Order: sequence, then structure tokens, then C-alpha cells
Amino acid sequence: MPDLIDLSSRIIDGTSNESGSRVTLECSEVADGISVVESFSNVVSVRTDEGLVMFDTSLATFADQVLGALRGWSPDPVHTIVYTHGHVDHVGGAAAVLAEAERRGQRRPQVIAHEAVPERFARYRLTKGYNGWINARQFGGTGLTGPGSEDPDSTPTHFPSRFVEPDETYEHTLELAVGGEPMVLHHGRGETDDHTWTWLPDRRALAIGDLFIWCFPNAGNPQKVQRFPAEWAVALRRMLTLRPELLLPAHGLPIAGEDRIALVLGDVATALESLVTQTLDAMNTGASLDTVVASVSLDPDLLDRPWLAPVYDEPEFVIRNIWRQYGGWYDGRPSRLKPAPDAALSAEWAELAGGVDAVVARADALCDAGGDVNLRLACHLIDAACLADPDHLGAAASAAAIYKVRRSHERSLMARGIFGHAAAKAAWHAGTESKDAP
Ligand SMILES: [Zn+2]
Repeated sequence: MPDLIDLSSRIIDGTSNESGSRVTLECSEVADGISVVESFSNVVSVRTDEGLVMFDTSLATFADQVLGALRGWSPDPVHTIVYTHGHVDHVGGAAAVLAEAERRGQRRPQVIAHEAVPERFARYRLTKGYNGWINARQFGGTGLTGPGSEDPDSTPTHFPSRFVEPDETYEHTLELAVGGEPMVLHHGRGETDDHTWTWLPDRRALAIGDLFIWCFPNAGNPQKVQRFPAEWAVALRRMLTLRPELLLPAHGLPIAGEDRIALVLGDVATALESLVTQTLDAMNTGASLDTVVASVSLDPDLLDRPWLAPVYDEPEFVIRNIWRQYGGWYDGRPSRLKPAPDAALSAEWAELAGGVDAVVARADALCDAGGDVNLRLACHLIDAACLADPDHLGAAASAAAIYKVRRSHERSLMARGIFGHAAAKAAWHAGTESKDAP
């Protein structure tokens, strides 16, 4: 049995505590004629009589290493690239694959994707700046810089605006045969509106993209466009009716065995279905978003499973995303329909409290007391203190400390990123202000 399959089997069977998420940039054959380069994202390749069919191309920065690893497995030309979706970590390496074919004097690989992928690329061109900032917060906001370091908001992450567009798109399903290998591409909304999952019937294999990622599904991302938890679960249930024996995700280890695949995909579907049902039930009673978030929960056992840990996205964000999908952005609290400016509201609270110093002291005390609600409260209060008096160095220093503590209590990369960025920003502010002060 190939090592990756052996490892994922042991994790799922409960005999290994290792992580299913890995980026080794190594290529492994996981079934006869199927390889996986473990990257961000993975590149799954299927050998056919006409050349390789490649699912995803990884990030542009990894593309050369990924191709080098792939070439250690097969010298065959790439015949077809299938984008599982248009995220940059899946499509960024395509230019390098096309360039390699040109260098070798081979036919240009065809690129196939769902019809919403070009719309995504167009949106990326419209929001290049925004995407740079959100990636800086999501992935770069983990650095806890101290006084004197660079302003964490001065350098957004570079976000590309040029992409290899698909040559062929489809709407619902697309049946292909490349070099005698039949494949059925299915559209399934889930993490994105442009997702493709591909069924390889002769191998009973599924190239699933990000519809399974070895952690809690990325269905709530607070900084990104709408995700589709209910449709995601529908796609997973549909896949399970095919009784797949090999699962090839774009992040993390491949999985073999019908029972194991049914277990992990079933768990993800169950978690999403539960969040959708509970959220809609609460919405239908007329509850506010605040009440919905407080009342919806998941079985903690589910979140303890090695393929559902909320280490990237988390249920609380998914609930808010379901609210946005079926409702609107109004959260049910009338004062927030057309709210006062943050700074004016914060100044009012601070004056009522007897001044910014009192707000900072209470925020510090709540943070010291600890506990989830106290930490949430401490962040509200310290935000208010900083907004009420942006030049208050004590408030900025406390904000840095409080958000550092808040970050340390969070499990999801998204929460840790945003809170870490807030801590770094406040620390920079406190340090810069004190250096500049007379
Ligand atoms: Zn991805």
C-alpha cells in the first residue's frame, strides 16, 4: 500500500495521531497511474494513453518544484488541466505547466473548468487590492510584531490579476474521455460557486478539490464572498451514492477504502446539514443574528475528529454565512441598521464610563479574568477605547496585549490571523506613537 494511503488509513482508523494536512512538495503514486504532489494545493495527476490529466496546478510560487516532483514520476506531456475551482492556490501554477509544454515543443494542454471560474477571475481583477489586504490578515496576521517594527498595514500581500483562463467550461456536468480514461466532471457549489468534483468511474476515484480538506469545511470565511454549506452537503451525499474507493483531495492526504470515505465525507455533510438546519430554524422564529449565533451548536465529538477540527474555518463563521445566504446583512438589532460612526459611539461610551482610562482598565481586567465571554468583552472595550482616543498610547498597548491573548485562545487560522493582525497593528501604533512623542 502506498505510504500516503497507509498514513491516512491509520489516522482515520485511530491508530495514528499525525495530521492529514501536509505540504511536502513530494510526488507519490497513490494508485496505479495516479499521483499526488503534496503542495498548497495538491496536484493530482492521472496517466492516460494521451498524456496526463492534471487536477489543479498549485500556487505559482510552488509550480516549478511541483513540476520537478511530478517529472520524477512521469515524463508524459500534460494533456488536460482541470481546475477544481478558481482559487489562486489551485490555478496559479497553470502558466508554468503551459510554459513547460511550450519549452518541450508539445501540444498546449487544454484547461477545463466550471463556467463560473472566468467570472471569479474577473472579480479578482476588480478586487485585487482588497484580496491583498485580506490575505495579509488571514495568512500574514500571525506575526506578533513589537514596537518599532513595520506597520502591518503598509504591505498587503501580493495578489495576482493574471490567470490562465479555461479553454472549455461547462454548466452542470461534463463527460470526458482522455486517452481511454473516462471522467465525469460535476459542478457542486460548496466552498465556492465554481467547484468541480470529478468522478473517475473505472478507478472508482473522486478528485474532490476543496470539498474535503482534512479540517472543518471552509464554509464561513469571514472576509470572503458567499459560501454554500447546504449545497456542499448535497454534493457530498451525491458523491457517496457512487461508492468511491479512492478520494483525492486538493489539501491533505488521499484516502482509500469505501468505508473510510463514507465516514469522513458523511461527517462533513452531517456537520454542515446540522448548522444549516439549526440556523434556518432559528431564523424562521424571527430570532436576531446574535440569538442565532448563541443558540446554534455542533456535537463536540464531531469537532474532535481529525478530519473536522476547526483549525482553519469554524462553525461560528459558518452560521453567519448561512444567515447572509438566506437573509441579508441586517442583524435584527435596530440601532445597527444605520449605526452612529464607531468613533462617535465609542467616545460616548467612554465618557459614560468616566474616561478612556476607565475603559482600558476594565478591558485589562476582563482579559485577566479570562474565559470566552470575558475575552470577547475585553476586545469590544479596548476597541472602543482606541476609537474614542486614537492617540491614547496606553489603550494601544493594552489592545496589543489583549488581542495577543485573544489570538492564543483561538483555534481557527482565520480568527488567529485577524486577531494577530490586530495585535501587531496596535503594537506598531503604540511603538510608533511613543517614538514620535516629544
Ligand atoms: Zn484550496
